[in-house]
This record gives sequence, structure tokens and C-alpha cells, in this order.
Amino acid sequence: MERLDAFMARANAAYYAGRDPFGAGGDFTTAPEITQAFGECLGLWAAVTWTLMGSPDPVILAEAGPGRGTLMADALRAARAMVPDFARAARLHLVETSPLLREAQRARLPEATWHEDAASLPDGPLILLANEFLDALPIRQFVRRDGAWAERWVAGGAFAERPASGVALPGTGAEGEIREVNEPALRLAATLGARLAARGGAALFLDYGPAESAPGDSLQAIRGREAADPLAEPGTADLTAHVDFAALARTARAAGAAAHGPVPQGVFLSALGLHSRAAALAASDPGRGARHIEAATRLTAPEAMGRLFKALVLCHPTLPTPPGFETA
Ligand code: SAH
Repeated sequence: MERLDAFMARANAAYYAGRDPFGAGGDFTTAPEITQAFGECLGLWAAVTWTLMGSPDPVILAEAGPGRGTLMADALRAARAMVPDFARAARLHLVETSPLLREAQRARLPEATWHEDAASLPDGPLILLANEFLDALPIRQFVRRDGAWAERWVAGGAFAERPASGVALPGTGAEGEIREVNEPALRLAATLGARLAARGGAALFLDYGPAESAPGDSLQAIRGREAADPLAEPGTADLTAHVDFAALARTARAAGAAAHGPVPQGVFLSALGLHSRAAALAASDPGRGARHIEAATRLTAPEAMGRLFKALVLCHPTLPTPPGFETA
């Protein structure tokens, strides 16, 4: 018998250690693998945020869960072309636990330094990017039973329940209601919040989840682009859960940082100029022009990835509002 978060941590560590899940033929695809314009826009976001910070040199440019390194390679190429002083000041640090994906990242970003955990990033002003990182971190789940909370454990491929302890949950709940808590994400928000308040900078998270904290079971497994049983064959499917952006913002604020958002990904990327970039790519690549436009639409359309995915930024309390969060 294993608590759900321990099960999910073990399953995902095995999953990411054993394969490159992205792209054609993989289990799923992510925004940076859909179009280079995504990483390029985030690179320019980082460069503008750096100027809002007062252009510190050096600055730590970090990414959590960089996958194949595609986002950061695109971001740095755009930054070198448009804001070369930022690219020169940036010291690249990647937080990645999978040895296999570290190798893929090293091929594209040989200048990086790797970390197991964001807590070991060097001190100083920081810009951190993370796309579909928080959703892979292990969650705990609680179920309301007879006026009290029970916790979900995993035994023999099925859920079991035990009395809950050591966690702050609402005092009430409807019978059978499920609540999720992502403790590593909340710890990261607290650590980053304190660090950003003390040393300056911003951390941008793109992920999927509701705008407000909400009850419900969001644990899902994807294998070969299809939904699978999350508890069966651990390590063979990608396990994710919705991100509770409101809880992360509250936690970072309590640690002294400011938080903007979440804003829908479609609103955020459109404000950063994703569609103009896609049009420019289409014009310079007429044979595949439609592909560039379709990719931008997929990332921004509400019925595709534009609404369920959201952007949240945690930052120093006096930093002017970073690009894309003007409406938040
Ligand atoms: N950002 C990439 C990859 C998303 S998949 C993209 O958008 O394509 C999740 C990434 O987080 C993978 O690189 C995975 O190996 C990494 N990861 C998962 N759990 C982690 C953890 N606890 N610490 C560090 N990296 C982790």
C-alpha cells in the first residue's frame, strides 16, 4: 500500500527516466514541440522582464522540467537576435530529474548547469520558466466520508482509503467530494516567493487547470495519446493533475512575492505577439505556411489549448506588471 503521491512520484520518475514522450510517435505533445514561436515568444518575455528588473548582469535564467530543451533553445535564439545584452547576461540553469532528458537537453543547451531541485539554483536575480512542469508533480487526494476527510492510497492497482492527517483541508465538504493537494508545487511556490521577494526576478508557469481552486478528481494518465488507467502499469503512462493556480499564488504572496494571473494561455500568448510571429514564419516558409498558422491557433483557441492552459507569474513585489499580464 502506497500513498497516492508516493505512487505518482515513483510512476513518473520511471516514466520520464525510460523514454522521450514528446512529439510524433510519442505519448503526448507540448506547446514548444508544436511550434518554435512558443519558445521564441517566451524568450522575448524573459528579455522584457529582465529590462523591467533593471537589467541585472549576471541573471540566472532557469527552466524547470525542460523536456527536450526545445523551449529554451528557441527562447535563447530569439533573445540573442532581439536583446543580445540579456542573452549575454543570462546564466543557464535547468531543473531536471530524468537522466535521459538531461542528455537531450545537453545536446541543445551544452552551456547549462543541471539541478535535481529548484532549491539548489544559485543565489541572485532569477527568471524561471516552466511549461507543463507542475502538472507532473505528485498530488495527494482526499475524499469526504461521513463528515471527515479520508486520504487515497494505492493498493494492487486500486484506490484504498485511510483517515487523513497532517494536511489543511476545508472544514466541510459534500459526501464523496474529492480535494487535491500538490505539496511539491506549494513548496516550490513558497521557496520561489521568498527568494523572488529577497533577490528579485520572476517565475512564469504555464500549465493547465482552473482559474479558481475547485474540488474534483483531475488525476489522468496518457499513453500513446489516449487516456489510460492511472493506477495500472506504473511507469508506462504520463500521470498529471490539474494545477491549482490560486493556491500557488496565495502561497507565494504569503512568502512576500507578488503574483499576476492566472490568465488564459490564449490571452497571454496573443498579447506576446504569437500570431504575428506565426505569420512571419509562414511568410518565410511558404511550403508549410498553413502549419505555422494552425499551430498558433491550436495554442490560443479557447476550444483547443487557449483556455484550459493558463499563465501565472510570481515576482518581486515592486516589479512592473510583466508582459501578457496587463489584464490580470
Ligand atoms: N517543459 C517540457 C516538458 C514537460 S514534461 C515541454 O513543455 O515540452 C515534464 C518535464 O518535467 C520533463 O522534462 C520531466 O522529466 C520533468 N520532471 C518531472 N518531474 C520532475 C521533478 N520532480 N523534478 C524535476 N523535473 C521533473
